[in-house]
Amino acid sequence: MAIYSKEDIITLLQEAGLRVTHHRTSVLSFLVKQRAPVTVYEMIDSLRKKEGIDQATVYRNLTSLQEAGLIKRSDFNHGHAHYEFETGRPSHQLVCNNCETIEKIDGISIDDTVKKMLKKSKKFKRTTTHSMEIYGLCKSCA
Ligand SMILES: [Zn+2]
Ligand SMILES: [Zn+2]
Repeated sequence: MAIYSKEDIITLLQEAGLRVTHHRTSVLSFLVKQRAPVTVYEMIDSLRKKEGIDQATVYRNLTSLQEAGLIKRSDFNHGHAHYEFETGRPSHQLVCNNCETIEKIDGISIDDTVKKMLKKSKKFKRTTTHSMEIYGLCKSCA
């Protein structure tokens, strides 16, 4: 995983056309450091304790970061939002149906499946990236 410095985060915000604020930089830095998507509650809790950022500010910044394409929001059938840094690279993850365990699995390829899908598709010409979630039960919940 790439390591992003504070300067890199600022550059990402500037390139996305967003105003660089202390809070926005903190929210994006938090997500860049995560190994898997985190719930919005976890984010609010951590950012409030560590940085003193209130809930409304976290939500507002999440919205602007998502609109700028820097972060990705997923529901995972949990009924609440999870956020992760948008790397633009394919991602494969296992999601527990019962708890918040979400594990990213690196080093596998589903390129053949993607090619087959494109071949079967009547409407699509090409693909750019993909995100795959496989649902199940983690070792503690099974
Ligand atoms: Zn969840
Ligand atoms: Zn679980």
